[in-house]
Amino acid sequence: MSGSPSSDFYEILGVQRGASKDDIKAAYRKLALQFHPDRNKDPGAEDRFKQISEAYAVLSDDDKRKQYDVSGKEGVYQKYGSEEDIFRGTDFSDVFRGTGFGGFDDIFSQFFGGGGRRGPQRGNDLSVRIQLRLEEAVHDTSRDIEIPRDEKCPVCSGSGAAPGTSPRTCSQCGGAGQVQRMQNAGFARFIRLETCNKCGGRGSIIDTPCKECRGRGTVRRTRTLRIEIPAGVNEGHTLRLRGEGEAGARGTPPGDLYVVISMPENPIYKRRDADLYTEARLNAVEAMLGTNVRVPTLYGDVNLDIPPGTPHGHQFRIKGKGLPRLGHHGSGDEYVIANIFIPKSLSGRQRDLLRKVLEEGKLQ
Ligand SMILES: [Zn+2]
Ligand SMILES: [Zn+2]
Repeated sequence: MSGSPSSDFYEILGVQRGASKDDIKAAYRKLALQFHPDRNKDPGAEDRFKQISEAYAVLSDDDKRKQYDVSGKEGVYQKYGSEEDIFRGTDFSDVFRGTGFGGFDDIFSQFFGGGGRRGPQRGNDLSVRIQLRLEEAVHDTSRDIEIPRDEKCPVCSGSGAAPGTSPRTCSQCGGAGQVQRMQNAGFARFIRLETCNKCGGRGSIIDTPCKECRGRGTVRRTRTLRIEIPAGVNEGHTLRLRGEGEAGARGTPPGDLYVVISMPENPIYKRRDADLYTEARLNAVEAMLGTNVRVPTLYGDVNLDIPPGTPHGHQFRIKGKGLPRLGHHGSGDEYVIANIFIPKSLSGRQRDLLRKVLEEGKLQ
């Protein structure tokens, strides 16, 4: 047995693209019970279990699923972070209630190594919107944006301590930021972990704060960043720039910057994924006799042959003139829809000529 032949989350779970949340949960539950590492000792079962769990973690969440539909797995990870972040944000216990399987936390920490996630604090994430016109999504592009943010203090390098001094380890908690408190209750003895009140949980104490940042370790700066935007992005696509958020207090890691693409509706084209739809306005006579029209594409105008007898609503496909597919090869197509109208005002001569057409014989 090997991994699933597909990398598509819907196919991995064996559900339709439009599947309901209940269907997705049921499909995941069935597969997960089959490939659960406690039950299935085949080589590859654990990988498969991880794969179906990943698919479920994404498709069971409305926002993540939407992002996946729009921009694939890559898009999901750019917006929501690492595989671990995505796993941890999912309630798996809910799926396995009543199955006798527990210990999912153990399995996931096996996947990712290490259990509890206390870790250091980190800086805040930031989010900005970039407005892009449809035409700009044809190629990779870039934007320079100015963001005000907290950055690591250059004077103390983020420590918060004046140059030449350094933070001292808290004597009360020994740097852990937490202290154990014993409590006796009858015959039982509890150990409780509490935040150290001497250092406020930081584990260190600054005797001489840095003047520049007043001990915070961060300073406010406005920074210009160049954002690289891949071709084919759509409204709502989110790019994640790791470490470009706010600096953490006292040298802890920075947050991330999320760049959300917004794309106003285009007056000429309607968009569906990578395909574009536009109209060609033709009068009834042109539609009957056939004609040749210039139609716009994002890559310049092209000539389009309208054959005689073209009905209203007919779609002509211009191959490859849609948008590039995000993260995939190739492009979408442009569809030109025949919008046929009946002329309202005719000259006397035009009227006479058209009458002659009718006199010539019945039109089919
Ligand atoms: Zn400083
Ligand atoms: Zn302390």
